[in-house]
Amino acid sequence: MKKILAFILALAMMMTAGLAVAETSYTATVDSQIGGVDAVTVTVTLNDDGSIKSVVVDECKDTPSIAELPCKKLPEDMVALNTINVDTISGATMTSEAIKAAAKKALEDGGVDVAPLMVKKEVVVERAADETLEADVVVIGAGGAGLAAAISAEQNGAKVIVVEKMPKVGGNTILAGGAVNAVEDRSEFAIKQNDSVYWHYTQTLSGGDYQGDPELVMTLVENAYDGIQWTKELGMEWLGEEAVFTVSGGLWPRAWKPAMVAGTGFFDTYTKYIDKTDKIDLMLNTKAEKILVDDMGAACGIIATGETGNTITINAKSVVVATGGFSKNVELRMAYDAIWGTLDETVLSTNHEGATGDGVKMLQALQADFVQMGNIQLLPLGDPKTGSLSGNIEHGVDSRIFVNKSGLRYGDEGGRRDDMTRDLFAQEDALMWIVMDSDTYPTGDELNNFGETANQLVAAGRAVKADTLDELAVLMNVDAANLKATIAEYNEYCTGGAKEGQADQFGRTLFGAPIDNGPFYAGARVPTVHHTMGGVRIDTLCRVYNENGEIIENLYAAGEVTGGIHGTNRLGGNALTDTVVFGRIAGESAALQK
Ligand code: ADP
Repeated sequence: MKKILAFILALAMMMTAGLAVAETSYTATVDSQIGGVDAVTVTVTLNDDGSIKSVVVDECKDTPSIAELPCKKLPEDMVALNTINVDTISGATMTSEAIKAAAKKALEDGGVDVAPLMVKKEVVVERAADETLEADVVVIGAGGAGLAAAISAEQNGAKVIVVEKMPKVGGNTILAGGAVNAVEDRSEFAIKQNDSVYWHYTQTLSGGDYQGDPELVMTLVENAYDGIQWTKELGMEWLGEEAVFTVSGGLWPRAWKPAMVAGTGFFDTYTKYIDKTDKIDLMLNTKAEKILVDDMGAACGIIATGETGNTITINAKSVVVATGGFSKNVELRMAYDAIWGTLDETVLSTNHEGATGDGVKMLQALQADFVQMGNIQLLPLGDPKTGSLSGNIEHGVDSRIFVNKSGLRYGDEGGRRDDMTRDLFAQEDALMWIVMDSDTYPTGDELNNFGETANQLVAAGRAVKADTLDELAVLMNVDAANLKATIAEYNEYCTGGAKEGQADQFGRTLFGAPIDNGPFYAGARVPTVHHTMGGVRIDTLCRVYNENGEIIENLYAAGEVTGGIHGTNRLGGNALTDTVVFGRIAGESAALQK
């Protein structure tokens, strides 16, 4: 008996000792391509047997909307698979690499032999069974237009399934600056701004060289303000009139700003709504491959590939295509480009990885009609390393200028996006600096349009800051005399009475306060492929046409996959308007389909 008791006691002691496993934590910080110097800090905790107990991303300065998923998923995978060498998240490769590098460095700095924890584990994913699902409406793509369509369809009584090929929602919309052009016609504010729905209409049409379909443009501008109200009803928060501004290439101060950074506010709102209703199923990591049609040629569902490679058939009364554009598909953009000459891989893009034009291919298979596919929009505002819009110090058009590598202004910074990009291509190395003063960043801790502070961008080497223009010129490596003369001349337009409508030598008419309030800021930018304005032809109900000019029954499209709204050149601030307005219409049309 004694022996048994002693044995049990010993066992209990062993087990307790086993439970109180010693563990050690290691922390390291690395640079990242997006967040710059010291951007990502990770702490890895090991059990005393050397296995990974936990991984925590303590800090990540990469763009929040991109960083969120890898910061959560990679640590989980590292613990589950007991290796640092986990798969990167598609669409967030650079952030993923930085997290892995920080975890590795933490262990190496701590003297841990990392080799056993760097073994690539073969993840055996069991292929789930093929399945067939039923819905009233199936939506392809969970970007801005797709989720607006899904919610609007649900509000009109439909049971909806949304498929999204990426591991997260948001598409390009979440990366956008967030601004939405909209005018409340005849409101006090619109009158004060000298603005009207008709002026928005005229500028959208003329800004696209009258290639936009007038009816679609009218639908866009007439429903824009109501679209914002609709998002408010869903719970989205917006800044007030005082925050309304002119987006680059927006031509008029009519861009409303969400309270949350970039496009994140839309998805915070949309996903909360979707979580609450049981009538919308959102399937991530699910790629639509084909739109199904019945004997009469009417759309009746889709075939998709699920996360495990299984085939998912979704039968539905109607299909909404909201797959976005093809800016990340070099082959397609080279084939269609009618504006730029070459859009090969040396030209970067602002877009997320999923912008590969899948919708174009699926719709081509149905002989859908496409319009103005050659109209591809570039912006002069890309990060020189990644092409991304984030990292940009600018806020509104009125407060900043562009100078080339010689420190000289070279064009109208308040003009159309295509003109500004053409001007930039003509400069040395197609590189320019955006220059502004502390009016925009009184302390430097204020946020840009992408949730980054000016000081963070400076620390990351993505912008420079100096008390005087002479010092700024040194940091920019441009001629100081040129820079000072160029700014002095520009300031005369701001203070010397260049009033609205009175242009400078480049045709610029939008002048804010002069650039004279140090410290000064500058950030380098290059041309970047941004938006494919051509796409499938739709009518004002978002119904899709075929090549014979007939409607393809039960098929709807919205957002960047569609063409004929923006013409040759989309106004800054009109893309998100497009997703809300036409997404809503597509959802309603699809739900009301008999
Ligand atoms: P829009 O502004 O028109 O809404 P976005 O780029 O915001 O365009 O969203 C389009 C979404 O569609 C992206 O999230 C993208 O990953 C998704 N998508 C593209 N192709 C497919 C596909 N074949 N299957 C499922 N989702 C897709």
